[in-house]
Amino acid sequence: MSKVHNFSAGPCILPQEVFKEASEAILNFNDLNLSLIEISHRSKDFVVVMEEARTLVKEVLGVPEGYTVLFLQGGASLGFLKVAYNMMRANKRGGYIVTGAWAKKAVKEANFVGEGKVVATSEDRNFNYIPKNYKSVSDCDYLHITSNNTIFGTQLHEFPDVGVPIVCDMSSDIFSRKVDVSKFDIIYAGAQKNLGPAGTTLYIVKDDVLGKSSVGIPTMLDLNIHASKDSMFNTPPVFAVYASMLNLRWLKANGGMNWIEARNNEKADLLYAEIDRNPLFEGTCDKKDRSKMNVTFVLKDESVGAKFDEIWNASNISGIKGHRSVGGYRASIYNALSIESVQALVGAMKELESN
Ligand SMILES: *Cc1c(COP(=O)(O)O)cnc(C)c1O
Repeated sequence: MSKVHNFSAGPCILPQEVFKEASEAILNFNDLNLSLIEISHRSKDFVVVMEEARTLVKEVLGVPEGYTVLFLQGGASLGFLKVAYNMMRANKRGGYIVTGAWAKKAVKEANFVGEGKVVATSEDRNFNYIPKNYKSVSDCDYLHITSNNTIFGTQLHEFPDVGVPIVCDMSSDIFSRKVDVSKFDIIYAGAQKNLGPAGTTLYIVKDDVLGKSSVGIPTMLDLNIHASKDSMFNTPPVFAVYASMLNLRWLKANGGMNWIEARNNEKADLLYAEIDRNPLFEGTCDKKDRSKMNVTFVLKDESVGAKFDEIWNASNISGIKGHRSVGGYRASIYNALSIESVQALVGAMKELESN
């Protein structure tokens, strides 16, 4: 099998070691002669997995005391609703910085519970920058932000400090760089961008915010219930949690956040340098707001598009077609993608230039 350079935006690349170990556990888990997916989630063998996964999140990311880690279901898309239910207080209003399509969806869900107030948006330029000034949030119970905009290729390189609790959708850059978790009240992330397979959603919740909502919360959306049951209120997505745990082991064994942040910076620098150097290409976002996970770029002259497609296909590159709302190309360079894959893409861009 020749190596495919997989730039998929999500679900996406995970380390080969993780795929191998996860597939072995499907056939024979812990030498039980049983599959991981046919044993009780209450069995000792699985409870150990859930506990290791939760502990590794804390260790690898440096989660301080006073936070609970949960592996739930419903994706970040249910998270939009869940965080609104759990964070509404007397104002019944959340402030939203709308930096892309996902943030817009988060506002929509907040409006089912209370009010989602847009305090800033970059929709005027198709979300190709991060708005820096926003309306007061003093009438809001929390501020919701999206750390990385998977579709549009922007990223927050600084987090707001505005005197209200911060809730952050980190679906597409969690575990890609160091973050000071103590600045957030809830961090949540669909696993399938940088953590594991689709099917589980990570929540890192400050214990102080639990049980304080001003609205009634349906049981499955109540983070307090899930926290009180150690993330086992109901049957968890056992395979997705297991594979996420393996991925966190991989991250820890290789050097944790210091290692991965340096590696991700190296990959992003290499690719953006070529986008800026190569006269045929240009980036789609303001340079200071560029994402180190999803690199969006276009050809200045569309007429060489077919030729470029031919070149990157021949280089075993996969998954770089841009999202339909931006066009062009999007190279997602998540944790498990190697520098060699970025070099292959840069090589294809150079080959187009010399053609
Ligand atoms: C992919 C993505 C989502 C949606 O995640 P689901 O798990 O599919 O619901 C939400 N927010 C961001 C930033 C994403 O990248």
